[in-house]
Amino acid sequence: MSFLFRKADPSSGPASHLGADMDSQNIEIRTPQEAVARIAYLASDVVVSVQPSQAQDSAFSSHLKRYAARKDQSLVAKSSGAVPEIQSVRHNTDPLLSVFAPIRSGQLVSVTTSSTVLLPSIAHLYKLANYPVVLHVSLQSGQSPDYSAITAIRNSGWTFLQSESLQEAQDIAVTAHALAIRSGKGVIHFFDAGSSSRDKPIGPEDASLVRDLLNLGDVRRFQASSIQGSSIYADDGRVAVASEQPDTVANGASTLTDSTLLDATSKATSTEASVKSGSPSDSSATPSVSTATTIDANAPVVTSEDIYKYVTAIWTQLRNLTGREYNAFEWSGPATAENAIFVFGSDAGLFAEALDAAQPTDVYAKSGMITARLYRPWLGAKLIEAIPKSVKRIAVLEQVSRKTTKWGPLLIDVLTSIKSGPGGVEHIVGYQIGYIAPDTVSQALKGVFQNLTSPKPLQNLEVGKREAPETPTGYGLEQPKLETAYTKILDQLFGNRAYVANALNSQNAGVSSTVAASPEFGFGSLLARKEHRQRFVKEVKQAATSNAFTTEAPKQWLAKWSAGAEDAQKAGEIADDVVSRLETDGSSIARQLLSSKGLFRKESLWLVGSDAWSYDLGNSGVHHVLASGENVNMLIIDSTPFSQKSAADAARRKKDIGLYAMNYGNAYVASTAVYSSYTQVLQAMLEADKFNGPSIVLAYLPYFGEHDSPLTVLQETKKAVDAGYWPLYRWNPANETKGEPNFALDSELVKKELKEFLARDNHLTQLMQKEPTFAANLAQDFGTEVRAQQKRKARDAYNELLEGLFGAPLTILFASDNGNAQSLAKRLGTRGRARGLKTSVMAMEDYPVEDLPSEENIVFITSTAGQGEFPQNGLSFWHAVKDSTDLDLASVNYSVFGLGDKHYWPRKQDRVYYNKPAKDLDRVLTNFGGKRLADIGLGDDQDPDGFQTGYSEWEPRLWQALGVANVEGLPEEPPPITNEDIKLASNYLRGTIVEGLNDPSTGAISASDQQLTKFHGTYMQDDRDVRDERKAQGLEPAYSFMIRCRLPGGVSTPKQWIQMDDISNSLGNETMKLTTRQTFQFHGVVKGKLKPAMQAINRALMTTIAACGDVNRNVMCSSLPTQSKYHRQVFACSQKISDHLLPATSAYHEIWLTDDNEKKLIASDAVQDFEPLYGPTYLPRKFKITIAIPPHNDTDVYAHDIGLIAIKGDDGNLVGFNVLAGGGMGATHNNKKTYPQTGRMMGYVKAEEVHIACEKIMLVQRDHGDRKNRKHARLKYTIDDLGVDVFRGKVEAMWGKAFEPERPFHFQSNIDTFGWQKDENGLSHFTFFIENGRIEDTPEFQMKTGLREIAKVHKGEFRLTGNQHLILSNVADEDLPQMKELMKKYKLDNVQFSGLRLSSSACVAFPTCGLAMAESERYLPVLISKLEDCLEENGLRQDSIVMRMTGCPNGCARPWLAEVAFVGKAYGAYNMYLGGGYHGQRLNKLFRSSIKEDEILEIMKPLLKRYATEREEGERFGDFCIRVGVIAETKGGQDFHNNVAEEESDEESCVVTSILNERGKLLQFTQKVVNSVAEYQELITAKYELTIFDTKLVGKLSHGAAVEREAVI
Ligand code: SF4
Repeated sequence: MSFLFRKADPSSGPASHLGADMDSQNIEIRTPQEAVARIAYLASDVVVSVQPSQAQDSAFSSHLKRYAARKDQSLVAKSSGAVPEIQSVRHNTDPLLSVFAPIRSGQLVSVTTSSTVLLPSIAHLYKLANYPVVLHVSLQSGQSPDYSAITAIRNSGWTFLQSESLQEAQDIAVTAHALAIRSGKGVIHFFDAGSSSRDKPIGPEDASLVRDLLNLGDVRRFQASSIQGSSIYADDGRVAVASEQPDTVANGASTLTDSTLLDATSKATSTEASVKSGSPSDSSATPSVSTATTIDANAPVVTSEDIYKYVTAIWTQLRNLTGREYNAFEWSGPATAENAIFVFGSDAGLFAEALDAAQPTDVYAKSGMITARLYRPWLGAKLIEAIPKSVKRIAVLEQVSRKTTKWGPLLIDVLTSIKSGPGGVEHIVGYQIGYIAPDTVSQALKGVFQNLTSPKPLQNLEVGKREAPETPTGYGLEQPKLETAYTKILDQLFGNRAYVANALNSQNAGVSSTVAASPEFGFGSLLARKEHRQRFVKEVKQAATSNAFTTEAPKQWLAKWSAGAEDAQKAGEIADDVVSRLETDGSSIARQLLSSKGLFRKESLWLVGSDAWSYDLGNSGVHHVLASGENVNMLIIDSTPFSQKSAADAARRKKDIGLYAMNYGNAYVASTAVYSSYTQVLQAMLEADKFNGPSIVLAYLPYFGEHDSPLTVLQETKKAVDAGYWPLYRWNPANETKGEPNFALDSELVKKELKEFLARDNHLTQLMQKEPTFAANLAQDFGTEVRAQQKRKARDAYNELLEGLFGAPLTILFASDNGNAQSLAKRLGTRGRARGLKTSVMAMEDYPVEDLPSEENIVFITSTAGQGEFPQNGLSFWHAVKDSTDLDLASVNYSVFGLGDKHYWPRKQDRVYYNKPAKDLDRVLTNFGGKRLADIGLGDDQDPDGFQTGYSEWEPRLWQALGVANVEGLPEEPPPITNEDIKLASNYLRGTIVEGLNDPSTGAISASDQQLTKFHGTYMQDDRDVRDERKAQGLEPAYSFMIRCRLPGGVSTPKQWIQMDDISNSLGNETMKLTTRQTFQFHGVVKGKLKPAMQAINRALMTTIAACGDVNRNVMCSSLPTQSKYHRQVFACSQKISDHLLPATSAYHEIWLTDDNEKKLIASDAVQDFEPLYGPTYLPRKFKITIAIPPHNDTDVYAHDIGLIAIKGDDGNLVGFNVLAGGGMGATHNNKKTYPQTGRMMGYVKAEEVHIACEKIMLVQRDHGDRKNRKHARLKYTIDDLGVDVFRGKVEAMWGKAFEPERPFHFQSNIDTFGWQKDENGLSHFTFFIENGRIEDTPEFQMKTGLREIAKVHKGEFRLTGNQHLILSNVADEDLPQMKELMKKYKLDNVQFSGLRLSSSACVAFPTCGLAMAESERYLPVLISKLEDCLEENGLRQDSIVMRMTGCPNGCARPWLAEVAFVGKAYGAYNMYLGGGYHGQRLNKLFRSSIKEDEILEIMKPLLKRYATEREEGERFGDFCIRVGVIAETKGGQDFHNNVAEEESDEESCVVTSILNERGKLLQFTQKVVNSVAEYQELITAKYELTIFDTKLVGKLSHGAAVEREAVI
């Protein structure tokens, strides 16, 4: 219920329904914004609430929303029950535009805003001045408020009222509304919220009082009117006409009746409806008058005098009702004062207090103060009346920091009002006040008065500080840094040729609020610029034929230039030549031309605007530009986040600028999004620049608030583009003349409207004919309703089919994220059917919740995702059930089975997550009256048989309940299909890949083919950023493929680099990933482009075969920039091993490398492949080999199935390798049977035999690896199970040779050395820092373009490192300058990063990796940034600490060997590991489970500090953590799960831990006290407390816990 009033008058009219809510005696209003919001709400039909962003409330909006949510009613509502409409509008989207429509339709509108919107809205202000709109303006108070926001608009025709305290804010707010209604004119009520911060809370204004002051008769008359507005940009000729307002005041202001301004008819009518104070006002008595705004051409306009009379009447009324008095000018001080200050600023209250407290000796004693309550209209005569005759000197104090005139505006007002001279006021002196702290007021006043009372006072003195201490404003700050992205691209493309008309400064041309409303200004300036150049071209042409030059050259060059002056390229090409000729010439005409030498280039003219321009296209700059046909470009940045598309600005009906412009016909139009396709933005801008006519480039840059990370912007962009809300396209009318299509769609889906436009324009037809598959996408509509119906129909049809065939019905719904729940559900369905039940199985998301009450028997199987959440395909169902209010399940029998892992969350407080979805669902279903068929069953991964243990106990209970437990003759169930089956049946990796590729109905391939394509070097993935959104739209996931190349040793030629770059641009997602296995990886390759991509990779003489899959993968090799000769020898071995172990299947060639028309190389099944090494089932699991060259372990030699340590002979050449076997990173969270492992030493082999030794190790694994359990199939488990010696023996037996004893070696580190290094041949190498291996362009950093430019001229090679960085290798001295210049140009020479960043590495994870549980590549850099301050503080900036992150425990970035690692557990939550060896020799150990960023920082910061202060000389972070006991050392893979820092604990030991923590704190305190003899007494007390504590503790503990305590103490 609403509590807007303290008490009410139940007898009074339409608001009497509020009577029930009046029990609100205790309400307190605490801020002026709250007081104002409440009055605005009561006195308006529509409140336009200006907010910093949709996600961030203003100080007004939180209150407004609260009232609206409670459905509080306003006093002015026409019909009972109507609540005011609150329109939330972002401050930079031209908010006052929202006022026009409602006010013209007779709705009372008020606006609550900060002062930032005023200046940009000045054009609207002039037009709105003649409407009874009220603007409540809180002066922006981030620093000291700047009253120039008010003075700058003082002549816009509005009435301005000022309040200075909390009580005044409320009273003046009422006054403002009453005055607007009476005068018919706009009123601005402004205040500085800061100046009332010390005020006590007030009570809300009385209802009857507010109602009386508003005068409902006038309100109704206005509401009955409707004004035919034309355009908001043209003056509609409206003149404010006062309401007929007979004097309703008991005392005073009787003159008002004389000044009513209406014609006789309306006067008569309104007089009838006028209301006397206290008399009932009834909405039924609303006069049906529409004449109130029928403007009589001769009707006198409202004058200043009228305003004064109205406001005085209102204040008189207010005084009679409340005792509080207000005047146009307020005087406070003795009536005999000689000196006075006139304050226009926020410190009036402070000044008043200081004057009151003045001592007789103070220079400002007995002085007075004037403030303006009614600032406009300015009534000089009233000012004179307000000031005592005794006043001789007035100091005018203005808080105006942006001064545009020499004299302050108020000073001018005062000077024009008060004539100074003998006998009257002698001096009027202006001051500019800044920030004044409360304790410096008297100081400031002293300064003011000393100057004022001096014989010759100085004008314009400054008082107070210019800068106030920063306080958050909530306004104007929310534009993220990212906003400059597009203008940076303009800069990048056109350099100094770009001319941005409204770039206030080039850093701020994005969605700056100040440009939002000034398109005309910008456009005008562009035209002026154009004309300027045209004149210049003319001048040049004349000059080219004149004889005024001293030399001949300029004339020829100028003539040549003139011929191509309008062609940007031609003009640009010779501009420098022309200029240099003119400079040499030196004549006066040459000098004159040189004075505009910038114009020798043809500028690219741009006007930058925001989506605010899309609310009124016909009148905004968009229309002007289009109608002009001028060759100018508009860049319009739309920042509405996709997720807020319907909420934001719904009432304002945003228009589609792109469509509007295309319909116009003469313009180039492009719709772009930098976070979706960077190159498309480049292309669009270049085309726009070239197009001879108006161009409009729409640019998407969604954000919620200033703190949005690029990741949020990226995700919002992707959703918008993917859903077709923000399609990427380019429309070029000029193409028609070239016979090319005008329209190019650069993203997949388009909105319905755009589709309709294209269809109308006949282009769609053409497109559809040309690209039938594309047409299907185009024709895809969004309609959830339709899809729901389709689903239901399909289900009904299926049910019908089953009808009659079976017995009792059983519906099985599942929610599954990794497939377990789904296969259980399907198997349960099959078993049910075998028992004669009518079963149907489906995902929860496909089930219509409204059908639930009609089910007879229903079973739910759900696994547990994230932090105890439903898996994605159960979420919508769960929400629908949970939020339902009317589900009746009285006749429904149900049972729930859940899959979870009890140990997934070791911390006690997180235990609730275990099987939470199942438990929640079970509880809710009972609440709705459902009957349990069988009690909930819970499967736990920790049980001996995993979830099967719980399941096999639950299922029989279910059959029992359904009466089908003992069915005879059940058929045998087929065994589940395993990966081994798939491999075997695949005919040497063919499967049905070709058929899948040719199926146009889906972007996916079949599940078994997904397993097989891995062997071909590609994985199917889907974009997880848009998964939910697509699901909501009823679309299949955005499938695409990752392709990984095979590149032994990571060495690529420059030509190959360019080829890879091309592939990523034309066939992938415009980026490349350099992987931790030293190769190229492409993402986002859609199915149709998969084959072309594979072919392009092979054309570049690379392959992808066996880059993934259960085979030997890419063979790595140290990159070793300092010893090129040695590197070559070792690298040759990596190639040899790679080639030797390559699978022999011809399926790869057949599937990918033959043209569709070409005859297949292998004739279908007739010819069988043969795999001499692998056999038909290949290896049990993936197999990885690497080579490290000591002292660099940059390929993490211990982490691979085979790790080879290169051994150098005495002559400096490679002689052989120490061989490690059985390293491996993959593990599963909480499954102690899985663990990472480091390689075990096999011995030494000669270089020439190394490939054979590798082969034999691989073959022993082939034959002995576990093919039943993929989680136990890696070589590491085979060796651990067999024992190292047995395994070695088997290898040696197969090889027929023995390993020699290992040779000595020494490793120093496993990270890269950045920057330039020279090798023994004198060639140079530069290691670039490529953060997490991602090669991409951003507006800030064109890394990809830069590397491509370098590749174009580089003569050496590129080496990809195992840490995902890149080495520019083999640069000869003579090429160094060119390389350095290019690197500098593209900022690629920067390696000045913190040691932590340089030593960091992350896997891909989101959005493409299907296994990712948390972000990795996109998050690690953010986390490091948050730690860097701490590194700096502790002097650790240069220290290398190896930190790694992966999105899941699969371990692609080898996290288990890092000194500190974070492994994804759930979205936003990580397991933290510590204690890895600095050069990759030792595994780390679990330190904390499932911690989020704040906890990570809480742990890391003190730990880093400790490391800085307590480490020993040269001690590494990982070693340190072990030495000081933060973590135990991991001695090997099998020791990985032992002694972890965060053991699971039962409840009692949790209590013990927390008690002991407390004890620890107490002990620390005691220790501190001991250090200070002076605090002896405290020592005694503390010791005493400790003893008491100990006694209590021991008493409380069980025996076991007490023992534990002893151990800990
Ligand atoms: S570690 Fe996990 S999340 Fe990261 S890329 Fe590998 S599989 Fe994906």
